[in-house]
Amino acid sequence: MTDNMKVYISVDMEGICGVTKWHETNRGEADYEYFRALMTREASAAVEGALAAGASEVVVRDAHDSGCNILPDELHPEARLIRNWSGGLLSMMEGLDATYSAAVFIGYHAKANTRNAILKHTMSLSIADLRVNGVSLPEAGWNALIAGMFQVPVVFVSGDEALCQQASTLLGHVDTLAVKAAIGAASVNRSPAWARENISLGVKKALLSLGDFKPFDLGSPCEVEIEFREEEGAERGSWYPGARRLNNTTVTLTAINFMDALRFYHFVG
Ligand SMILES: [Zn+2]
Repeated sequence: MTDNMKVYISVDMEGICGVTKWHETNRGEADYEYFRALMTREASAAVEGALAAGASEVVVRDAHDSGCNILPDELHPEARLIRNWSGGLLSMMEGLDATYSAAVFIGYHAKANTRNAILKHTMSLSIADLRVNGVSLPEAGWNALIAGMFQVPVVFVSGDEALCQQASTLLGHVDTLAVKAAIGAASVNRSPAWARENISLGVKKALLSLGDFKPFDLGSPCEVEIEFREEEGAERGSWYPGARRLNNTTVTLTAINFMDALRFYHFVG
């Protein structure tokens, strides 16, 4: 435990305990209000765990869709909440910098085309896969690389079982918590109360052994590949300076570093 431990918590919605269908994550649709409350509570549980480990500051990033899902008044009062999108490159990791000690992902989901995974996708539904130096990445991997640019390790990830498996395979030493699993498109859920209790305990435990975790990095320069589901995205992306068309649906760029890769994705993805 350090004297000054700032913790960054990025919260998505598809991997929140109970969430199973797209409409449950869409503003204005049936059940959305209920599931955004569950999202808020899981975020609060993570904040609680961070504070229990001695965090001096906790920032929660609302990282789903509009960026305005978490109910501000119901979030843990010690947390700062980042809402909406700045238009900048950091996106689901907005506001992160090198002053943070650790990052936590709550409510995350597996990458596109994963078998037995709930609401799987990679960034947008138009993307089939995102690769850096040949490594296929879920959003948790991409965002871990953003954290890695600032030397911040990802210490704890929660979501469905498929996501937890992907995060472990990619990041090596990271603590994970599966709050649900999938059978095809069906979900098998723990109770939200169980999820909250174990998120809180898990975040605390991870932060108490912060020294065991390493920032994620795939090296610089790096080869970034964006594979679209349709040909049109690749056609458009191939006009980005330095981009090359690999095949019908894939564009690639040799990025000087991951920030350069982010810029490519930002304007092409
Ligand atoms: Zn989302």
